[in-house]
Amino acid sequence: ALSVRGLVKRFGDHEVLSGIDLDVPAGAVTCLVGPSGSGKSTLLRCMAFLEEASAGTVLVGGEPLGFVDTPEGRRRLPAARIRAVRSGIGMVFQQFNLWPHMTALGNVAAALRVVRRLERAEAEARAMAQLRTVGLEGRAGHYPSQLSGGQQQRVAIARALALEPRLMLFDEPTSSLDPELTGEVLNVMRRLAADGMTMVVVSHEIGFAASVGQQVAFLDGGRILLRGTPQEVFRKPRHPRLDQFLDTYL
Ligand code: ATP
Ligand code: MG
Repeated sequence: ALSVRGLVKRFGDHEVLSGIDLDVPAGAVTCLVGPSGSGKSTLLRCMAFLEEASAGTVLVGGEPLGFVDTPEGRRRLPAARIRAVRSGIGMVFQQFNLWPHMTALGNVAAALRVVRRLERAEAEARAMAQLRTVGLEGRAGHYPSQLSGGQQQRVAIARALALEPRLMLFDEPTSSLDPELTGEVLNVMRRLAADGMTMVVVSHEIGFAASVGQQVAFLDGGRILLRGTPQEVFRKPRHPRLDQFLDTYL
Protein backbone atom coordinates (compact mmCIF):
# COMPACT_ATOMS: atom_id res chain seq x y z
CA ALA A 1 0.00 0.00 0.00
CA LEU A 2 2.88 2.32 0.81
CA SER A 3 6.52 2.07 -0.16
CA VAL A 4 9.46 4.10 1.02
CA ARG A 5 12.55 4.10 -1.19
CA GLY A 6 15.93 5.54 -0.32
CA LEU A 7 14.41 8.05 2.04
CA VAL A 8 16.86 10.55 3.48
CA LYS A 9 15.91 13.34 5.83
CA ARG A 10 18.23 16.04 7.06
CA PHE A 11 17.57 18.91 9.40
CA GLY A 12 20.39 21.25 8.47
CA ASP A 13 23.58 19.20 8.83
CA HIS A 14 21.89 16.59 10.97
CA GLU A 15 20.95 13.49 8.98
CA VAL A 16 18.03 11.93 10.80
CA LEU A 17 17.04 9.27 8.26
CA SER A 18 19.81 7.68 6.19
CA GLY A 19 18.27 5.77 3.32
CA ILE A 20 15.12 4.06 4.49
CA ASP A 21 13.57 1.32 2.36
CA LEU A 22 10.32 -0.07 3.67
CA ASP A 23 7.22 -1.66 2.21
CA VAL A 24 3.98 -1.32 4.12
CA PRO A 25 1.74 -4.11 2.82
CA ALA A 26 -1.97 -3.49 2.42
CA GLY A 27 -4.24 -4.91 5.09
CA ALA A 28 -1.39 -5.52 7.51
CA VAL A 29 0.08 -3.83 10.56
CA THR A 30 3.66 -2.60 10.42
CA CYS A 31 5.17 -1.63 13.77
CA LEU A 32 8.12 0.73 14.05
CA VAL A 33 10.17 0.41 17.19
CA GLY A 34 13.45 1.95 18.19
CA PRO A 35 15.17 4.19 20.72
CA SER A 36 14.26 7.81 21.28
CA GLY A 37 15.71 9.98 18.55
CA SER A 38 16.13 7.10 16.08
CA GLY A 39 13.83 8.82 13.58
CA LYS A 40 10.51 7.00 13.99
CA SER A 41 8.33 10.11 14.12
CA THR A 42 10.25 11.73 11.29
CA LEU A 43 9.73 8.63 9.12
CA LEU A 44 6.01 8.60 9.91
CA ARG A 45 5.73 12.32 9.17
CA CYS A 46 7.50 11.81 5.84
CA MET A 47 5.01 9.02 5.02
CA ALA A 48 2.17 11.52 5.54
CA PHE A 49 4.11 14.32 3.82
CA LEU A 50 3.93 16.40 6.98
CA GLU A 51 7.68 16.52 6.50
CA GLU A 52 9.45 16.73 3.15
CA ALA A 53 12.12 14.14 2.55
CA SER A 54 15.55 15.44 1.56
CA ALA A 55 15.91 12.59 -0.93
CA GLY A 56 14.10 9.43 -1.88
CA THR A 57 10.44 8.74 -2.50
CA VAL A 58 7.26 7.71 -0.80
CA LEU A 59 4.76 5.86 -2.99
CA VAL A 60 1.16 5.49 -1.88
CA GLY A 61 -0.70 2.89 -3.92
CA GLY A 62 2.05 3.29 -6.52
CA GLU A 63 1.56 7.07 -6.68
CA PRO A 64 4.44 9.30 -5.64
CA LEU A 65 3.70 11.53 -2.68
CA GLY A 66 5.12 15.01 -2.92
CA PHE A 67 7.92 14.61 -5.41
CA VAL A 68 8.85 12.70 -8.53
CA ASP A 69 12.37 12.12 -9.72
CA THR A 70 12.80 13.22 -13.33
CA PRO A 71 15.90 13.37 -15.52
CA GLU A 72 15.99 17.09 -14.70
CA GLY A 73 15.94 16.39 -10.96
CA ARG A 74 13.29 16.26 -8.28
CA ARG A 75 10.04 17.91 -9.17
CA ARG A 76 7.36 18.86 -6.67
CA LEU A 77 3.89 17.65 -7.64
CA PRO A 78 0.97 20.06 -7.88
CA ALA A 79 -0.72 20.79 -4.58
CA ALA A 80 -3.97 19.18 -5.73
CA ARG A 81 -2.19 15.89 -6.47
CA ILE A 82 -0.47 15.97 -3.09
CA ARG A 83 -3.80 16.62 -1.36
CA ALA A 84 -5.45 13.78 -3.25
CA VAL A 85 -2.81 11.23 -2.24
CA ARG A 86 -2.66 12.54 1.33
CA SER A 87 -6.41 12.31 1.74
CA GLY A 88 -6.02 8.54 1.86
CA ILE A 89 -3.80 8.76 4.93
CA GLY A 90 -5.08 9.20 8.48
CA MET A 91 -2.80 10.08 11.34
CA VAL A 92 -3.08 9.81 15.10
CA PHE A 93 -0.53 11.42 17.39
CA GLN A 94 0.57 11.07 20.98
CA GLN A 95 -1.17 14.36 21.74
CA PHE A 96 -4.80 14.01 20.77
CA ASN A 97 -5.07 17.50 19.23
CA LEU A 98 -8.82 17.75 19.80
CA TRP A 99 -10.51 21.11 19.64
CA PRO A 100 -11.29 21.94 23.29
CA HIS A 101 -14.35 24.05 22.50
CA MET A 102 -16.08 21.26 20.57
CA THR A 103 -17.76 18.11 21.81
CA ALA A 104 -16.58 14.65 20.80
CA LEU A 105 -19.24 14.63 18.10
CA GLY A 106 -18.32 18.17 17.07
CA ASN A 107 -14.65 17.25 16.71
CA VAL A 108 -15.39 14.35 14.38
CA ALA A 109 -18.12 16.20 12.46
CA ALA A 110 -15.95 19.29 12.00
CA ALA A 111 -13.31 17.23 10.18
CA LEU A 112 -16.00 15.95 7.82
CA ARG A 113 -17.41 19.42 7.24
CA VAL A 114 -14.02 21.06 6.65
CA VAL A 115 -12.28 18.30 4.71
CA ARG A 116 -15.25 16.64 2.99
CA ARG A 117 -17.50 19.72 2.84
CA LEU A 118 -20.46 17.76 4.17
CA GLU A 119 -23.63 19.40 5.46
CA ARG A 120 -23.96 19.49 9.23
CA ALA A 121 -26.63 16.76 9.44
CA GLU A 122 -24.74 14.35 7.20
CA ALA A 123 -21.45 15.09 8.98
CA GLU A 124 -22.99 14.49 12.39
CA ALA A 125 -24.63 11.25 11.30
CA ARG A 126 -21.33 9.89 10.03
CA ALA A 127 -19.49 11.21 13.07
CA MET A 128 -21.93 9.40 15.36
CA ALA A 129 -21.41 6.15 13.45
CA GLN A 130 -17.65 6.55 13.84
CA LEU A 131 -17.94 7.26 17.58
CA ARG A 132 -19.93 4.05 17.85
CA THR A 133 -17.09 2.05 16.30
CA VAL A 134 -14.72 3.30 19.01
CA GLY A 135 -17.30 2.65 21.72
CA LEU A 136 -18.02 6.30 22.51
CA GLU A 137 -21.59 6.87 21.32
CA GLY A 138 -22.49 7.56 24.94
CA ARG A 139 -19.93 10.37 25.16
CA ALA A 140 -20.79 12.23 21.97
CA GLY A 141 -21.89 15.37 23.78
CA HIS A 142 -18.88 15.57 26.09
CA TYR A 143 -16.09 18.10 25.68
CA PRO A 144 -12.47 16.87 25.66
CA SER A 145 -11.95 18.15 29.21
CA GLN A 146 -14.81 15.87 30.31
CA LEU A 147 -13.22 12.78 28.75
CA SER A 148 -10.42 10.54 29.97
CA GLY A 149 -7.18 10.47 27.99
CA GLY A 150 -8.13 7.12 26.51
CA GLN A 151 -11.53 8.44 25.45
CA GLN A 152 -9.94 11.53 23.93
CA GLN A 153 -7.56 9.39 21.94
CA ARG A 154 -10.48 7.25 20.73
CA VAL A 155 -12.22 10.44 19.56
CA ALA A 156 -9.03 11.35 17.69
CA ILE A 157 -9.03 7.89 16.10
CA ALA A 158 -12.72 8.26 15.18
CA ARG A 159 -11.96 11.64 13.64
CA ALA A 160 -9.21 10.15 11.47
CA LEU A 161 -11.37 7.16 10.49
CA ALA A 162 -14.33 9.35 9.56
CA LEU A 163 -12.32 10.60 6.58
CA GLU A 164 -12.17 6.99 5.32
CA PRO A 165 -8.40 6.65 4.98
CA ARG A 166 -6.85 3.66 3.24
CA LEU A 167 -3.89 3.84 5.57
CA MET A 168 -3.61 4.84 9.22
CA LEU A 169 -0.42 6.08 10.84
CA PHE A 170 -0.14 6.04 14.63
CA ASP A 171 2.68 7.82 16.46
CA GLU A 172 2.89 6.56 20.04
CA PRO A 173 -0.89 6.77 20.47
CA THR A 174 -0.80 5.44 24.02
CA SER A 175 2.37 6.92 25.45
CA SER A 176 0.64 9.83 27.20
CA LEU A 177 -1.95 7.49 28.76
CA ASP A 178 -2.03 5.74 32.10
CA PRO A 179 -1.59 1.98 31.79
CA GLU A 180 -5.27 1.29 32.51
CA LEU A 181 -6.33 3.56 29.64
CA THR A 182 -3.74 2.24 27.23
CA GLY A 183 -5.61 -1.04 26.90
CA GLU A 184 -8.83 0.49 25.60
CA VAL A 185 -6.98 2.38 22.85
CA LEU A 186 -4.95 -0.70 21.88
CA ASN A 187 -8.20 -2.67 21.71
CA VAL A 188 -9.67 -0.18 19.25
CA MET A 189 -6.49 -0.49 17.18
CA ARG A 190 -6.60 -4.27 17.41
CA ARG A 191 -10.16 -4.26 16.08
CA LEU A 192 -9.19 -1.90 13.28
CA ALA A 193 -6.36 -4.25 12.33
CA ALA A 194 -8.71 -7.23 12.40
CA ASP A 195 -11.02 -5.33 10.03
CA GLY A 196 -8.15 -5.18 7.56
CA MET A 197 -6.97 -1.59 7.92
CA THR A 198 -3.45 -0.94 6.69
CA MET A 199 -1.58 0.50 9.65
CA VAL A 200 1.83 1.78 10.60
CA VAL A 201 2.25 2.01 14.35
CA VAL A 202 5.10 3.59 16.28
CA SER A 203 4.84 2.24 19.78
CA HIS A 204 6.81 1.16 22.79
CA GLU A 205 4.08 -1.42 23.40
CA ILE A 206 6.24 -4.35 22.41
CA GLY A 207 3.45 -6.77 23.33
CA PHE A 208 1.15 -5.06 20.85
CA ALA A 209 3.86 -5.03 18.17
CA ALA A 210 4.54 -8.71 18.70
CA SER A 211 0.91 -9.82 18.78
CA VAL A 212 -0.77 -7.51 16.23
CA GLY A 213 2.09 -6.55 13.91
CA GLN A 214 2.67 -8.68 10.82
CA GLN A 215 5.87 -6.74 10.24
CA VAL A 216 8.23 -5.11 12.71
CA ALA A 217 10.99 -2.69 11.77
CA PHE A 218 13.64 -1.72 14.30
CA LEU A 219 15.05 1.74 13.66
CA ASP A 220 18.38 2.76 15.09
CA GLY A 221 20.27 5.91 14.24
CA GLY A 222 18.16 6.68 11.19
CA ARG A 223 18.48 3.23 9.63
CA ILE A 224 16.33 0.14 9.65
CA LEU A 225 18.58 -2.28 11.45
CA LEU A 226 16.14 -5.21 11.50
CA ARG A 227 12.93 -5.97 9.69
CA GLY A 228 10.71 -9.01 9.55
CA THR A 229 7.88 -10.78 11.29
CA PRO A 230 7.78 -10.26 15.07
CA GLN A 231 9.03 -13.84 15.45
CA GLU A 232 12.04 -13.09 13.25
CA VAL A 233 12.87 -9.76 14.85
CA PHE A 234 12.35 -10.67 18.50
CA ARG A 235 13.64 -14.24 18.43
CA LYS A 236 16.83 -15.02 20.30
CA PRO A 237 19.70 -14.62 19.90
CA ARG A 238 18.77 -10.98 19.37
CA HIS A 239 20.75 -8.26 17.75
CA PRO A 240 22.67 -6.55 20.60
CA ARG A 241 21.17 -3.14 19.77
CA LEU A 242 17.66 -4.58 19.99
CA ASP A 243 18.49 -6.27 23.27
CA GLN A 244 19.77 -2.97 24.62
CA PHE A 245 16.59 -1.22 23.44
CA LEU A 246 14.31 -3.84 25.00
CA ASP A 247 16.23 -3.61 28.28
CA THR A 248 15.67 0.13 28.34
CA TYR A 249 11.97 0.10 27.48
CA LEU A 250 10.59 -3.03 29.09
P1 ATP B 1 11.02 9.52 20.23
O1 ATP B 1 10.95 8.04 20.53
O2 ATP B 1 11.67 10.27 21.32
O3 ATP B 1 9.70 10.09 19.80
P2 ATP B 1 11.82 9.42 17.42
O4 ATP B 1 12.43 8.11 17.06
O5 ATP B 1 10.41 9.66 17.06
O6 ATP B 1 12.05 9.67 18.99
P3 ATP B 1 12.36 11.78 15.86
O7 ATP B 1 11.37 12.65 16.53
O8 ATP B 1 12.02 11.30 14.50
O9 ATP B 1 12.76 10.53 16.76
O10 ATP B 1 13.72 12.57 15.82
C1 ATP B 1 14.89 12.05 15.21
C2 ATP B 1 15.98 13.09 15.30
O11 ATP B 1 15.61 14.20 14.49
C3 ATP B 1 16.22 13.64 16.68
O12 ATP B 1 17.60 13.80 16.87
C4 ATP B 1 15.52 14.99 16.66
O13 ATP B 1 16.17 15.88 17.52
C5 ATP B 1 15.66 15.41 15.22
N1 ATP B 1 14.55 16.26 14.77
C6 ATP B 1 13.27 15.92 14.69
N2 ATP B 1 12.50 16.91 14.21
C7 ATP B 1 13.34 17.95 14.00
C8 ATP B 1 13.17 19.28 13.52
N3 ATP B 1 11.97 19.74 13.15
N4 ATP B 1 14.28 20.06 13.44
C9 ATP B 1 15.48 19.59 13.79
N5 ATP B 1 15.72 18.34 14.24
C10 ATP B 1 14.67 17.53 14.35
MG1 MG C 1 8.70 10.17 18.14
